[in-house]
Amino acid sequence: MRVFLETFGCQMNELDSELVRGRLASLGYRFVDDPDAAEIVLFNTCAVRDHAEQKVRSRVGIVGSQKRNGREVILGLLGCMAEREGLAILQKHPQVDLLCGPGELDRLPTLLENLRRTTAATRGERVALAGNRSRRTATLTAAEDELESLDLSRSFDPEGSSRPWSAYVRITRGCNKFCTYCVVPATRGAEVHRPPDAIVEECRRLVDRGVIEITLLGQTVNHYRYTHGTALTLDGREAPQVGPGLGAFRKAPAAGERVTTFAMLLARIHEEVPGLERLRFVTSYPRDLGDDVFDVLAACPRICRYLHMPVQSGSDRILKAMNRGYTVAEYLETVDRAIERLPDVSIAGDVIVGFPTETDEDFAATERLLRRVPFKNNFIFKYSPRPGTTAFDRLPDDVPDEVKRYRNNRLLALQAEVSRDVHAREVGRTLPVLFDRVGSIPLERRSDMTAAGSGGGVELRVAGRRTADDSMPRAEGEASRQWQALGRTAGDLIVAVDVEDEIAAEAMRGRILEVEVTAAEALLLRGRRPMPAIAPIG
Ligand code: SF4
Repeated sequence: MRVFLETFGCQMNELDSELVRGRLASLGYRFVDDPDAAEIVLFNTCAVRDHAEQKVRSRVGIVGSQKRNGREVILGLLGCMAEREGLAILQKHPQVDLLCGPGELDRLPTLLENLRRTTAATRGERVALAGNRSRRTATLTAAEDELESLDLSRSFDPEGSSRPWSAYVRITRGCNKFCTYCVVPATRGAEVHRPPDAIVEECRRLVDRGVIEITLLGQTVNHYRYTHGTALTLDGREAPQVGPGLGAFRKAPAAGERVTTFAMLLARIHEEVPGLERLRFVTSYPRDLGDDVFDVLAACPRICRYLHMPVQSGSDRILKAMNRGYTVAEYLETVDRAIERLPDVSIAGDVIVGFPTETDEDFAATERLLRRVPFKNNFIFKYSPRPGTTAFDRLPDDVPDEVKRYRNNRLLALQAEVSRDVHAREVGRTLPVLFDRVGSIPLERRSDMTAAGSGGGVELRVAGRRTADDSMPRAEGEASRQWQALGRTAGDLIVAVDVEDEIAAEAMRGRILEVEVTAAEALLLRGRRPMPAIAPIG
C-alpha cells in the first residue's frame, strides 16, 4: 500500500517519522511524496504550539473533504496532538480513522493492519491508541518497553533519506520537568533513558551506512544517566529505565553503583565510533550542565561545541511561574562557565514572550539577558496557551496579542543585532562546513537569509540578491541566477558559498569542506572555498 507521511514540529518528531517509515517499509508499505497518490495518509503531529495544530487541522480538512467526495483513503494522526486530544479528535473530525500517540508508535503496523481489515469488512471502523504508557508505568520494566524495539530495529535507508549523511539518535524519551506551559510531559510521558550499549551500537551502525553527523536527542538531553544492573530484559540485556530524580545530577553515584552519565556517554561514542565526524546533542537543560560535560567537549574534537540551551525569560518571576527550576543568575553562571572552558562555544536559546502576567519590566529583563549572552540565535515564540498544561488551567492568558506581537518583533530585531556581532567574530577565519543544501537566487535581488523554526528545527528561505563581486564562471543558461551551497559549521552557524552552477552546489552536499569566512550577516556567514596553493615555478 502507498503511504504519505508528513511531519510537523520538532526533531524528536522527525526521528519518530523516520523510525515509522523504516518499520512500515520493511513490512512492504511504499512511501510516496504526493498525498493524493496514497492509500494511507499519516500526519505526525506536534502539540507544542497552536500554530502547528492549526496546520494539521487544515490538512485533515482537505483529506476529509476528499473522503466525503468518495476518495477511499485511511487518514491517521500520530504524535503529540493525537495523544493530547485523544478521542475528542475522532468526535471533532469524523474523517480521521486512526490515532496513535508517540508512546504507541511501535504498535502502528498492527493498528494499520487491523484497520485495513476492518475497513475492508465493515467500512467505518476506527482505531485509537493514545494515552502514554510511559507516564502510566513509572516503574517501567524492560519487557514492557516495546518502544525501544522501534529504535533498535531501525532500518536507516541512505537511499530514502534526503540527507543520508546525517541522522538523529534518541538517548532519552519523555520529560520530568513539567514546565507550566509545556504539553510534552503529558504527551511523551516520564523520562526514560536508553541503555548506553544500545545507543553506541546504533551510532556505529549508522556510521557504517555512511552517516558522518549524529545528533543525540532528548527533551533534556543532559539529564541522561543510566544506572547499570537495575533494568534487564528477559534475556539479560540492559533495558531502558525511568530517569532518576533531579537530585541525582548534584551528587556522586552511591558506593557500588555503576552509572553512565551524559558526559561519559558522549566520550564513549567519540571513542568507540571513530568514523563519526560530528557528534551533536539537543536540547540541554541549563541548570544541570556540569563541568564534566564541558571537559569532554574540550577533550573530544569531533563533538561539536554547540549548546542549545533555552532560557525562556530573563525575569526570575516569570521563570518561577514557568516552573523552569533556575534563576537568571544560575543560567548566566552556566553560560559563563561554558565560555570560560570552551572559548569557541556557540550558544542558541529559546524565548517565550507574553507569558501570563509578563510586565514591561519582565520583558525589559529579557532584553537585558539577550544583550548579555552571545546567543548565535534564539527561537522566539509568542506564548499560546496549550490545553493540558498547568498554565492553561491556572494562569489567564492576560497579555494582549498586540503586546505579544510588539515584544516578539522587538526581540527579533535585538537578536538580529546580537547574531550579527556573533557572526562578525568569524570573519577572516577558515572553518569546516558540512554542506547540506542547495539554493539559487536571482542576481538582481539582494541576498539575505531568513531562519525560522520550532523546537530546534530551522527553515531556510533565500530571499534576496547577491553582491556584484561574483566573477565565477557559470554554465550556459545560469547567467540570471546565482547558485549557492549552504551548510553549517560545528557551532551550527549557517554558511553560504557562491558556486558556479547547481551541479557544483550538489557535489558539495554531504561533505565537510573548509571555507574562508568573508562576510557576516545577521542570519548567516558568507564565505569562499580557499584557493589551492600554487607551487612556485623552478
Ligand atoms: S524541559 Fe522542555 S520538554 Fe520538559 S517540560 Fe520543560 S519545556 Fe517541556
